[in-house]
Amino acid sequence: MLIGIDDTDSPGGMCTTYLGAVLARRLIREHMRVREARLARLNPNVTFKTRGNAAIALDVEGDPDRGFELACAIVEELADFSCEKTNPGVVVAEKRPDPAFYQRAVTDFCEIDEAIAVLEAAGARYRGWKNRRGLVGATAAVASVFPDATYEVLAYREPSRWGTQREVDRESLFAAEEATFPHTWDTVDFANQVVVCVPHTPDPVLFGIRGESPAWVMSARSFIESEKPALEQIWVTNQGTDAHLVPGTCGALREGISYRVRGVVAGRPATGAGGHVSFEIRDGDAEVRCMAYEPTKNFRDTVRELVPGDAIIAVGSYKKGSINLEKMCLVSPARDLRTQAPLCTVCSKRMTSAGKDKGYKCRKCGGHAMDPEVDEIPRKLTAGWYEVPPTARRHLAKPLCRGFPEIS
Ligand code: ATP
Repeated sequence: MLIGIDDTDSPGGMCTTYLGAVLARRLIREHMRVREARLARLNPNVTFKTRGNAAIALDVEGDPDRGFELACAIVEELADFSCEKTNPGVVVAEKRPDPAFYQRAVTDFCEIDEAIAVLEAAGARYRGWKNRRGLVGATAAVASVFPDATYEVLAYREPSRWGTQREVDRESLFAAEEATFPHTWDTVDFANQVVVCVPHTPDPVLFGIRGESPAWVMSARSFIESEKPALEQIWVTNQGTDAHLVPGTCGALREGISYRVRGVVAGRPATGAGGHVSFEIRDGDAEVRCMAYEPTKNFRDTVRELVPGDAIIAVGSYKKGSINLEKMCLVSPARDLRTQAPLCTVCSKRMTSAGKDKGYKCRKCGGHAMDPEVDEIPRKLTAGWYEVPPTARRHLAKPLCRGFPEIS
């Protein structure tokens, strides 16, 4: 059976993955076999999410009625029902529901009734609490098929410590990254000297190490010195796989969907209030704004090097009229040509505009020239992929250390 759970946490505490890890141990105690623990990240632009829009599924050999009973009981025991936004869902399916539902949940928006129709079609047991929105994530988790997958070992804190300062040795995290990158990633952000894998929220997670295999995440984990975790669980995940991206075209983008979009840089990037960098890309007559927000730190320096005429692929979510960049590919760099009024050949003074389409004139000697002075500035940026640093990376975004996206 596949047991799916979602929407048990709130900003004030709890975490659906913790609940799943505890449930796995209770199932094992009843002599059931837990074949896989799966962590599915869903559309990161869903407004109902608490943090990372995670849902979980356990693949279990055992009695489905008992599995359903234990899953519902743990939700009643641990879910944070006090929060208005916590609307748990539990699903037990003996056959995998249509994976198309997962595909929509990770790339788009789904209705609660759609989830229920999928569950009915699959003959699944299910229960939703309050407005039952958690059934969307729980259904997507059991329906999920990951064509590409990564792993995360999550260490959870003793309940008595929840909400207190986490004790994780910073140097040991840097040592773990140094010894295992690129087979693990996002433990720390070396360039910005920031720890990435330890949350600051009052939930049960102590730290999480992401990597390409259970062996690599456990190898990195072995470096980490910290307070004693209450339990640890290795999850199979769609994190770091770009599962949220769909191909998109300038002028035909929908709010809350994450895209790969081709375009030509239309104007020089500008840095606005708060340090956010923006520029427009064009495809035919259509234009769209691309944003590199302040938290993307040094990535903004790369973006500022773009020049009009650069052909790029912009990757990120379309929100409020902009693509919020997660990464980009400079497909074909343009020449960086800068024009200015020419120097007067007689008196070597910089000329000024003589008016639209009238060329330039020298204010000192009255000399005249038609053509501007054109300088070519050597480019610092070469063709290739560029990404935000680990500290700004979304859970689903595929880090470039895992390979470059295909250019189609
Ligand atoms: P955490 O990461 O700490 O586990 P969370 O960010 O996963 O928390 P949830 O509490 O699970 O947040 O809230 C997300 C809610 O949005 C759930 O009810 C889930 O069913 C629903 N949901 C997830 N994906 C979609 C989607 N694509 N369309 C509509 N609803 C969705």
